Amino acid sequence: ENARNEAVSAGIRSGVAQEAARQGYTRSTTGHNLTAVAHIAGSDADRAQAEAIQAEWAAAGLPNTHIKTYFPLLNRPVSRSLTLLAPERFEATLREPAVDGDDTSRDEEVVPTFLGYSPSGNVTAELVYANFGSQADFAALAARGIDVRGKIVLVRYGSAFRGHKVRAAELAGAAAVLIYSDPAEDGFVRGPVYPDGPWRPPLAVQRGTIQYPFYEGDPLTPFVAATENATRLPQSEAPSLPKIPALPISYGEAKPFLAALKGHGVAAHTIANDWQGGLDIEYWTGPAGKAHLFIDNEFAVKPIWNTMAVIEGTSEPDRAIVIGSHRDAWVYGALDPSSSAAVVIEIGRVLGKMHKRGWRPDRTIVIATWDGEEYGLLGSTEWVEDHVEILNKTAVAYINLDGAVSGPNFEASASPALANLVRKATKEVKDPQTGRRVYKRWNRRAGVDTPEGRVPRVQPLGSGSDYTPFLQHVGIAAVDMRFTGDYGVYHSNYDSFNWMAKFGDPTWKYHEALTLIVGRVLLPLAHDRVLPIDFVPYVHELRTYAKDVAAALGGASMPVEWAGRLDASIDVFEKAARKLRKEADQLRRDDADEDDAVVDAIDGRNDGLDAGVSVLAVQGGSDDGLAGIMPQQHPKHPKHSKHPKHPKDPKHRAVNDKLGFGERGFIDMAGIPGREWYRHVVYAPGEWSGYGAEMFPAIHESIRRGDSAGTDKIIASVAATLRCAAGMLAA
Ligand code: GLU
Ligand code: ZN
Ligand code: ZN
Repeated sequence: ENARNEAVSAGIRSGVAQEAARQGYTRSTTGHNLTAVAHIAGSDADRAQAEAIQAEWAAAGLPNTHIKTYFPLLNRPVSRSLTLLAPERFEATLREPAVDGDDTSRDEEVVPTFLGYSPSGNVTAELVYANFGSQADFAALAARGIDVRGKIVLVRYGSAFRGHKVRAAELAGAAAVLIYSDPAEDGFVRGPVYPDGPWRPPLAVQRGTIQYPFYEGDPLTPFVAATENATRLPQSEAPSLPKIPALPISYGEAKPFLAALKGHGVAAHTIANDWQGGLDIEYWTGPAGKAHLFIDNEFAVKPIWNTMAVIEGTSEPDRAIVIGSHRDAWVYGALDPSSSAAVVIEIGRVLGKMHKRGWRPDRTIVIATWDGEEYGLLGSTEWVEDHVEILNKTAVAYINLDGAVSGPNFEASASPALANLVRKATKEVKDPQTGRRVYKRWNRRAGVDTPEGRVPRVQPLGSGSDYTPFLQHVGIAAVDMRFTGDYGVYHSNYDSFNWMAKFGDPTWKYHEALTLIVGRVLLPLAHDRVLPIDFVPYVHELRTYAKDVAAALGGASMPVEWAGRLDASIDVFEKAARKLRKEADQLRRDDADEDDAVVDAIDGRNDGLDAGVSVLAVQGGSDDGLAGIMPQQHPKHPKHSKHPKHPKDPKHRAVNDKLGFGERGFIDMAGIPGREWYRHVVYAPGEWSGYGAEMFPAIHESIRRGDSAGTDKIIASVAATLRCAAGMLAA
């Protein structure tokens, strides 16, 4: 037990539980810190953790620590019930019982099962099964004459963000939605279930938000920060709030409802193979039976708390790298998000220690634990909206972590401009199991052939975590990194310390490896004289996406040659990206001699920096700061010596600005038609998928609408934006 406690150096046991306990918020004295207590956004425990992390960071030596509070709309379950009335009576418990060996699991409700932003409701109706609840699934039902209007629709988790399922059901006229976790997705079909294995047990429930993604963040304050006195939309007018009630249930309790449909409507497998789920019953569509669903959810505007710290850069204080993970969890959240929050807390602690010893980054580092991510990226989005001008002027990259350790498989999603930086970082860190470079294992699992050789695939960013406001609203190059594995307890009570200790990362070594990788992404961004950003990898991606547009045009009988306008712009972009790479490489060569001197100043990989983040301890000084991000009470001009490592020479500045702000070129301020908050012309969350990225989203949406004239215009507009992006790189 002691050895294990010692091993968790990556911050899961970072003093938070003791602090929470001291403040009287803890439910458990077993003390697994972040995961010892349930800490849903806006709760006392959530606030206690925000305060404890701030205290820990300040004690370690991080400057400008503060808590940034916003006031979004939140809902909480007051009561709910679900009863099958016919053909026979079955009352769902809606409980996730205690299991052996998991000392935070409980027979009483810790956080009742519910969905973020579901309205209250009281519905008695027939049942219909609608597979994944996609628009295509509802169309398939309609095509067979199965009417979902006024019904309680039963859909399974998987394939798309849950908010889209409820939205599709609402559009189809359903009265209410039950979303259940089918065992084929993350239960016994995948392998042994918790506590015997990592997969979902019969009574585990996936909570989650069902906000409709017309924008991210607080439903009542799109585009502006949810400050205490912000102007708010009336709840009835917020486009992102669902209008029909919905409840998540387990497969154990979904089974009697599904069984009630047998022999009614059509056998699900006759629609398509994937309509039959993993339970050992024959799935039918219905309508059949009768059920009663009652939900009382209380809505209120409530405070949430981001923990922030700002380390002002010396030579380029007005250029910033932001790094963050959310901290709020549906219940205990060992994987989601404590594994990633721990990494960020540890990075903060290490940087604090370095700072105490005199280290200063060349560029400003802003470090955050976001609140309210689970309800809809609230803490990050409100902060971004609050600081949009200064971020636009200063932020060169955002590093996101979320639910970052559930096994040994490294994965990254990023702007292509950061892809090579991530790949390089994984070459410098060993895989804890193989003892070889993380890069090797990653490339073997997920290698792709590109014009630059076989390299591990870096995926496009869609949505579902806090990078979205940075990349897609402001155009800040972003990256998300994680180690994945078998994980079936998502958003349930059982995403617990015990789950993590038994299945996710028993040696805690992947937490450590991730911390090392993140350090090797963060520090070069903060220190390299020439920013480690490269737009050449974007070219290959853009060409692939343009081919997909051509194919979609062909499929919709629209002129395929329209895609040629994209190709022509990509040619211009390629020229600019290659020229910029050349300029950057030339500067790097010029700097190489000087760098040897800098290496002598590197202040050890020793010195108790258990995360092993290598340290560039260089004294420096500066007069201007990121005043907008700094807490008001803090002195604006911290004292340090006046010898910046990077003299502000115009050549570096010009190249760095092109590298650091190049991503902004993809922003079209008009946004994507119908969801204007999303402004990146290359990447957006799929209109009806949510998590997955769609490339050239506005074009594909227009093609899917069959709007030929509109498509012509949108392609012209996107092609023009790509030339703007090229212009940013060539400026
Ligand atoms: N990560 C959360 C979820 O998947 C929130 C996603 C979002 O609101 O975009 O439920
Ligand atoms: Zn998360
Ligand atoms: Zn989550």
